Amino acid sequence: MGGIRHPFTLKRLAAFSWCFHCERVNKTAAWLSNGWECPSCGAYAELWTWGDVRKIVSSYPGVPTVGGLYALYR
Ligand SMILES: [Zn+2]
Repeated sequence: MGGIRHPFTLKRLAAFSWCFHCERVNKTAAWLSNGWECPSCGAYAELWTWGDVRKIVSSYPGVPTVGGLYALYR
């Protein structure tokens, strides 16, 4: 997974990416194979790495549930 980078920021992405639009997590490979549209809601390239979400909400698990809803502030 280490070779996948964000299409705009070119930031190196981890195995899981979180959607800023619908707050759901999917595998980064699923974003890539979906043309960088969110596999859950279709938002284009609004992904954060899961690790950045966990810096804000440290109680979230290292391995999230695929398709799971993880609110950022609540
Ligand atoms: Zn989404």
